[in-house]
Amino acid sequence: MKNKTESLGKRTGVDFGQHELRVTKTGDLLIHDLKKPDTGIHRVKFINIENVLVVTGDFGNWIFCREFHPSKDGSVSDKYWCEKLQNSSTQNPYVFDADTAKEEIKEILEEDDGSLSEEEKEWLAELSDEADEGEYSYIAKAMDHPSSFDTENIPQGKKTNYWLLVVFDAFDEICKRLKAKEAENKESIRGESITRTPQHDAGAYGQCICGRYSDDPRCLDDGYLCECGQRNGFSGSFKPPTKDSQWSLKMAKRHRSSLEA
Ligand SMILES: [Zn+2]
Repeated sequence: MKNKTESLGKRTGVDFGQHELRVTKTGDLLIHDLKKPDTGIHRVKFINIENVLVVTGDFGNWIFCREFHPSKDGSVSDKYWCEKLQNSSTQNPYVFDADTAKEEIKEILEEDDGSLSEEEKEWLAELSDEADEGEYSYIAKAMDHPSSFDTENIPQGKKTNYWLLVVFDAFDEICKRLKAKEAENKESIRGESITRTPQHDAGAYGQCICGRYSDDPRCLDDGYLCECGQRNGFSGSFKPPTKDSQWSLKMAKRHRSSLEA
């Protein structure tokens, strides 16, 4: 008799017998975490969110372009999952681009100081024509280079995937907005330059029992009147004001005296 439970994957033989399954559901986020206690080895985490299944863990990162929720009668249809993996999903940042390839070849020919042989020039011209036939024809021709031509200098004709560039731009945009938002918050919080002292907390000199804050240092003085009608209503102990907080108008001493009279 075996002294430990085995549960072998039918495709790979990987043993999940010691793994624990933790299921988390938060709003639209559904996570199935299959891991051994105290180690990330052989961990596989399935994260379903926003019409995709993201798989992370010890066997790489995979994004399937639809959600797959595990269930008691469920299982993987290998071919279908493979299709959903390729659809709109890649980890390759570059794509072949004929115009880029031709431009690179043109530069090599233009910058030639006479060191290119006739054979190399002829091959480069043919390679340029082959670019229009697509990536595989291009690669085949590129591999068939004259032995004198340094393989490292073979034009790749690669440019960054346009969708990826949009993703980069979107990320930058979000960073820009967060920065703008922080600047906006900074400007709009009144009293933020007032630091904490033994008499009062930071952000104001006092807060009235009506909720209004004051940036008048005299608000804690005896007899100070708030516009709510409360006298001596200000306390130096309060939660910091936010940009939505209400503030008491500063009352001129003259005005206060007349009210006090
Ligand atoms: Zn008040």
